[in-house]
Amino acid sequence: MTIGIHRPTQLIIDQSAIYHNIAKEKSRLKPGVELFQVVKANGYGHGLTQVARTAEKAGATGFCVAILDEALTLREAGFNQPVLVLGITDPKYADLMASNHIAATVGAIDWLKAADSYLTDNHQLAVHIALDTGMGRIGFQHPEELGKAVQYLAQKNSFNFEGIFTHFSKADAVDTDYFQLQINRWKAFMAVLPTRPKYVHVSNSATSLWHDVCNGNMIRFGVAAYGLNPSGGELTPPFTLKPAMSLKTEMVFVKELPKGYSVSYGATYTAKEDEWVATLPIGYADGYERRLQGFHVLVNGEFCEIIGRVCMDQLMIRLPHEYPVGTAVTLVGEDHGQSISLQDVADYCDTIHYEIACGFTQRLKRTYIN
Ligand SMILES: *Cc1c(COP(=O)(O)O)cnc(C)c1O
Repeated sequence: MTIGIHRPTQLIIDQSAIYHNIAKEKSRLKPGVELFQVVKANGYGHGLTQVARTAEKAGATGFCVAILDEALTLREAGFNQPVLVLGITDPKYADLMASNHIAATVGAIDWLKAADSYLTDNHQLAVHIALDTGMGRIGFQHPEELGKAVQYLAQKNSFNFEGIFTHFSKADAVDTDYFQLQINRWKAFMAVLPTRPKYVHVSNSATSLWHDVCNGNMIRFGVAAYGLNPSGGELTPPFTLKPAMSLKTEMVFVKELPKGYSVSYGATYTAKEDEWVATLPIGYADGYERRLQGFHVLVNGEFCEIIGRVCMDQLMIRLPHEYPVGTAVTLVGEDHGQSISLQDVADYCDTIHYEIACGFTQRLKRTYIN
């Protein structure tokens, strides 16, 4: 997608915030526990390779991604650390993965057999076995199946059984019953494992922040690195998470809208009196959702309502008084002591900040600071 570099709208990514969040978490980990930074989905919208660079400096020793292409992007950018693809990859790419030293997630013995048929001489594929302890997404469901897969791996030189992991669905909640159920199933799985592979990992951000006794010897640190509380607001993180992402633009058109005149598609907003209105060059094609009609932005530390429907590329706000074209507007982030968080945006859209962050499209220019 074309990046909008000739308009004032931009995502500003504070690399020092990402550094802070990762370094703080690293300092809480027991000696020998590695931190793999999760950079899937363009680094949760913050930029895949840029985040990886900062994470590396902050102490991350590996990366997790969702799909093979993201892993290849890291390799093309020159990252040599371990990279794990967390999703299921078509086994026909086993050789491509092996030749790029990219580790695959395995959830079934049939996958291993299929991948084996694609691996060419001398290529060894690193695999991490996924265990489904209650997420219900991917992974082995029974300890017996795990036992068979481990036996199979032991006979094959084409694989390096490098890791084993699970994923929790409720590590971010006050109620820990379901988390405990998953822990019990995890223990039942681990009991059939004759030897432990190099990486044993169960922790996403929430698990590592609030259940760190469970951390194996590697954590898959995701959303918290970007300064976002994985629980929304239900639990308080053990240290201050600094949000890394802001969204800023400038007014491109300002007018006085006469009383009784309407704004945007469907004419859903009508001025009750003469009002000053600014048009901003951002819309739902940038991932700024159409549902945000009625929400607000910040101008000079004051909240201004988004009036009328958010268009594909533009939206309108009501001003307290006239402002000149070019006036700065904050859609996410801080402005003169006030702030709008991704959590605020997500709450208004009835979703989670993860979805808002990774929903910002490639059209938005990303500017890296600090
Ligand atoms: C996305 C993902 C993570 C990271 O989760 P956060 O909540 O962002 O920390 C960890 N593990 C798996 C399997 C994932 O899919």
